[in-house]
Amino acid sequence: MNVRHSVLKNIGSVELVKDEKPKKVTSYFGVNTFNQAEMQKRVSKKTMDSFKLWLSEGKSINEKEADEIAEAMKNWAVERGVDFYAHWFQPMTGLTAEKHDTFLTFKGGKVIEKFSGSKLILGEPDASSFPSGGIRSTFEARGYTAWDPSSPAFISETALGKTLCIPCIFVSYHGYALDKKLPLLRSDEAISKAAVKLLKVFKKNVRKVVSTCGPEQEYFLIDKHYNNMRQDLMLTGRTLIGAPSPKGQQLEDQYFGSIKDRALNYMQEVCAEAYKVGIPVSTRHNEVAPHQYEFAPIFEESNLAADHNQMLMDIMKKVALRHDLVCLMHEKPFAGINGSGKHLNWSMADDQGNNLLNPGHSPQENLQFLAVLTAILRAVYNHADLLRASIAFAGNEHRLGANEAPPAIVSVFLGEQLTVILDTIEKGTKQKVSKQDIINLGVGKLPTINKDATDRNRTSPFAFTGAKFEFRALGSSQNISTPIMILNTIIADSLTYVAEQIEKQTKSKDLESAVMAVVTSLVKETKKIRFEGNNYAAEWVTEAAKRGLPNIAATYEALKAISKKDNIAIFEKLGVLTRDELVSRYHIWIEMYNTMLTIEANTLKEMVNANVVPSGLDYQSQLAKIVSELTQLKTSAGLKIDEAAYADMKDHLSEVTYKIYYVRKHTVAMAKLLEKAAGEEGPEKAETYFNELKPLMEHIRRHCDDLETVISDEHWDLPKYREMLFVM
Ligand code: ADP
Ligand code: MG
Repeated sequence: MNVRHSVLKNIGSVELVKDEKPKKVTSYFGVNTFNQAEMQKRVSKKTMDSFKLWLSEGKSINEKEADEIAEAMKNWAVERGVDFYAHWFQPMTGLTAEKHDTFLTFKGGKVIEKFSGSKLILGEPDASSFPSGGIRSTFEARGYTAWDPSSPAFISETALGKTLCIPCIFVSYHGYALDKKLPLLRSDEAISKAAVKLLKVFKKNVRKVVSTCGPEQEYFLIDKHYNNMRQDLMLTGRTLIGAPSPKGQQLEDQYFGSIKDRALNYMQEVCAEAYKVGIPVSTRHNEVAPHQYEFAPIFEESNLAADHNQMLMDIMKKVALRHDLVCLMHEKPFAGINGSGKHLNWSMADDQGNNLLNPGHSPQENLQFLAVLTAILRAVYNHADLLRASIAFAGNEHRLGANEAPPAIVSVFLGEQLTVILDTIEKGTKQKVSKQDIINLGVGKLPTINKDATDRNRTSPFAFTGAKFEFRALGSSQNISTPIMILNTIIADSLTYVAEQIEKQTKSKDLESAVMAVVTSLVKETKKIRFEGNNYAAEWVTEAAKRGLPNIAATYEALKAISKKDNIAIFEKLGVLTRDELVSRYHIWIEMYNTMLTIEANTLKEMVNANVVPSGLDYQSQLAKIVSELTQLKTSAGLKIDEAAYADMKDHLSEVTYKIYYVRKHTVAMAKLLEKAAGEEGPEKAETYFNELKPLMEHIRRHCDDLETVISDEHWDLPKYREMLFVM
């Protein structure tokens, strides 16, 4: 029995501890968060008012108030058994980081628990080991974490301990953003300013607008024993080799199917852990591929949604281990079946909670909706390159532009109702549009956009799905902050443009006519970005090329948009990122791509040499022995053997020998290529990797997979697709 077979007895044998009396979710939702209600109970009214003012107007609290809040937060945490606190932040690795500090301090020879406002507000972790893309010179290692009061502190629990996590931004000594949260917060300010300006045109007195977001999170679950026997999954998150299972997702029997007990137990615990820290998980279901699933939350303000998505991914990984499972968040863990993405549902809401992507009840409100809608169309049309860059990294490259969902061509899907409305607007030839005309155009009685009517196209990377847009091209492992930040920025820029254009027009026209003039010209200008058909079809690739829409498969190509002069100007103008901050991000992302591929290639090399070839040789030797024995029996003992059967045995040996030879040959070539690329850097290396290394790795994989399918099951130690994807 080989190792692979011997682990079977361990699968699904983990003991789960049952909650004696399951609690009502509302009785414990958010118990592990220091939210405003909890703060209100523990600080003075004056401090609470200052805190609220800080959130709404950005006017910082003073030192004394900070001390009071810190003390309250510490007491709340200590009462719950917390002994350490951590500034929890999101460096450019895309993951979260935490450095734990104790509340303990000496006072008069005695040890006490203390937490000051200054420690709450500012931390000083050594920044030198986080990626900075050259923005922080090595001699100047200082970085600061600063409290983000808009995201509640929360308690992270393990079986034996609890830690208070304080969401923070992470900046360099000179104030450069070294993280993903600060740019997101800045972009939210930009969108607020721009949207308020546009709403003013419509005589709406709104003080603040926020972007809202609900990310749908896809993932795979596989048994931990299998995961731990595959160095590719352990080190890279995806299988670098592995022959397809005869049954994959062809029968379409997994999507929304009955959830297996083991997976459901896991989901149950993830939900419970998420609820404790206030993450409003609202949907769970089976996805298309075997052992593939999805969670989605109720949408929230973007900054909170981004924190919650990071927290949820962390919970998902940790809870999986308690169930002897591993949660795979990679975009393409298994070849030949669906990869995992993240749908970013995005909209904007004013300070009264009105969704700006909801068509209203009056012609006036519908005009506003059309202005917002066409501003978004303009943003996507003008800056499709930035959106593409926001989702460009090694893992997602397996989906985008690799004949997978969704394609690398950015286009917008609006659905039939809106398309008819925009087409009508486009064809309207009148210079001056009266109220009656608007009504005739269908604007006055703009229907509530029916979700069912808009959600039919699942192939579009950017789809209007009834009162929100859904950016579907994100990778499942991705921190959503960057795509939100880029969406916010380009849309803020566009909302400002639209507001200014309408203002200009109102000098000579009434408001309705002014809006219609701007909307009409934008509908025409951005028409090329709209596509209602099947985005996976080959015809779309041709059609998009005709329209001049970019179709970029390579990460290094896509990332170039980040450092383009015109694009930098927009980020600088809106105060979201400076030139240096953008350029450093470009370098970080290129570097991450190169590092990831180097790790993958070296892992593949090791697997070939340590697993594939030895397995092949074992089997080859078994065959060789048989052939040699047969030959001997035939010649010396005169055994009668059917010539065809004898030849077949020899052919089989040749075939195996040949396949081993090919695997080795290409792996040697890959090692040479890696040596050559070691002398290259940055984009040059990324280009070599994309154009030469990746195809070579695919080639090696094909030969390995070939070998897997001809050699004896007994000789193959690596868990197979059919086991990882169907045993649970
Ligand atoms: P689907 O369209 O994929 O079937 P849902 O309609 O349930 O799914 O919504 C998917 C996600 O979109 C959920 O997380 C939901 O909270 C989120 N969502 C709904 N409305 C908004 C909004 N106005 N802004 C941002 N996200 C939203
Ligand atoms: Mg969706």
